[in-house]
Amino acid sequence: MLRLLRDPNLLPPEKLTLLSNIAAQAQTLSMPCYVVGGFVRDLLLGRPVNDLDVVVEGDAIQLGKKLVEVYGGKLTRHFKFNTAIWHLPDSTDFVDLITARKEIYEKPGALPTVTPATIDDDLRRRDFTINAMALRLDGEGFGELLDPLEGQTDLGREVIRVLHPQSFMDDPTRIFRAIRYEERYDFAMDVQTLDAINPESLKVLHSLSGERLRHELDLILDEEDAAEMVLRVVNLGVAEAIHPKIPTFHAEDGDYLEMDVRLDIPADRRTMGYMLWFMDLYEDEVFSIANRLEFSNELTLSVWAAAQLKKSLPYLVESQPSVWTYALEKLPLLSIYAVYLISRENALLDYISLWRHVKPYTTGDDLKSRGLLPGPRYGEILEQLRAAWLDGVLTTKAEEDALLVKLLGSPN
Ligand code: ATP
Repeated sequence: MLRLLRDPNLLPPEKLTLLSNIAAQAQTLSMPCYVVGGFVRDLLLGRPVNDLDVVVEGDAIQLGKKLVEVYGGKLTRHFKFNTAIWHLPDSTDFVDLITARKEIYEKPGALPTVTPATIDDDLRRRDFTINAMALRLDGEGFGELLDPLEGQTDLGREVIRVLHPQSFMDDPTRIFRAIRYEERYDFAMDVQTLDAINPESLKVLHSLSGERLRHELDLILDEEDAAEMVLRVVNLGVAEAIHPKIPTFHAEDGDYLEMDVRLDIPADRRTMGYMLWFMDLYEDEVFSIANRLEFSNELTLSVWAAAQLKKSLPYLVESQPSVWTYALEKLPLLSIYAVYLISRENALLDYISLWRHVKPYTTGDDLKSRGLLPGPRYGEILEQLRAAWLDGVLTTKAEEDALLVKLLGSPN
C-alpha cells in the first residue's frame, strides 16, 4: 500500500502531503483516521485517485476546525451526520471529513437513521465490497489496509458485490452505482448481486424522488461509457421501473455525447444524453418522463424540442433556407444539433453555422429615418429582407436597398 501511496502517477505529491497533514492533526486529537471508498479502490486498481473521503473515529467537525486553524481554508459543516467539507486554501479542491457511522434503514428507500460508530461499522454501511476498504492515515498504522469484507479479492476477481442481500432494498440508488462500476471498470456483478435486482427492489424505486433518480442518471451520462450503462439500465428493467415509457438507448448514439467543440454551441453532455435517449417519444410521453425525473424547465424544453423537430423533418426537407430558419429559430441550438447528429440533415448544420447569423444591412433605425411609423411592419420588412438574403434572392447591399424601396412602397 505504501508503495502505491508514493507513486506520483497515482497520487500527486501534494495530495500525499495533504493526507499526511490531515493525519498529523487527527493524531494530535487522538482520532484514528482513514481514507476510504473510491480513493482506496482506485489506488489498488492502479488508477489515478480523485476525491478524498476521510473517516475519523471521533468528531469530524472538530478535526475540520483544527485543519482550518493550522492550514487555512474554509469549513462547511453538516451537523446532522457530523460531517464537514474542508475547502482547501487558494484552491477549488476539498476534502470530505466524515464521522464514522452506522446506518439503520427503517424503511426501504428512505434515508437511514445514523449513529456514531467504529471504522468497521462504517465500512459495513457501504454499497459494495470494492468500496468498503479503508487506509489508515494516523500514527504507526499509516498505510495499513482495512478490508474486512474482502474488497481486494473482489477487485482481483473483477466483481461488484453487495455487502448483504437487502442492500438494494435499503437503497436502490446502489443499482445505478453497480452499473456504473461494472461498465467503468469492465467488471461484472456477482450472481447474488444481480439477483438482488428483482421485482421487489425495483419496486422500491417508485418511492424515490425524481431528483434522486435523475441525479443517478446524470452521473451515468457523465461517464465515458455512458451508452453501455444506459443500455444496462434499460436491459435490467430499471428504466421501466422508473417510468414505463422510457425507451431503449441506441448504443451507437453514445458517440454523439462527445460534442464537436468547433461548433459554437455550449456542450452539455447530460442534456445531449437525455435528448438522444428520448427523442423518439411522443410529446405527452416526454412530459410525463420529465415530470417523473423532475427535469428543469430548460431540460424539458430541450428534449421536447428535439423530439418535435425530428418528427417534423419530413415536412421540412425540401424547404428554402428561410423556411428552415423560421422553423428552427425558437428551438434550443443543442436540440437542433442533436437532431442533426441523428439525421445528418445538412440544412440543420447550415442553420447552426450560417443561416442563424444572417441579417440584412437595414436596421429598425434605418426604417425610422425613412419615415416608417413604428408598428408590426418593422418586423415584417426586416424579416422579408432577411428571407431574401437567406434564399439567395439578394447578393449585394444595392439589391437590398432596391428591395427595401419596393417593400416600403407597397402597402404590406
Ligand atoms: P466514484 O468514482 O463513482 O465517484 P466513489 O467511491 O468516490 O466513486 P462517491 O459517490 O464519492 O463514490 O461515494 C464515496 C463512498 O461512499 C463510496 O466509495 C461508498 O463507499 C460510499 N457510498 C456512496 N454512495 C453510497 C450508497 N448509496 N450506499 C452505500 N455507500 C455509498
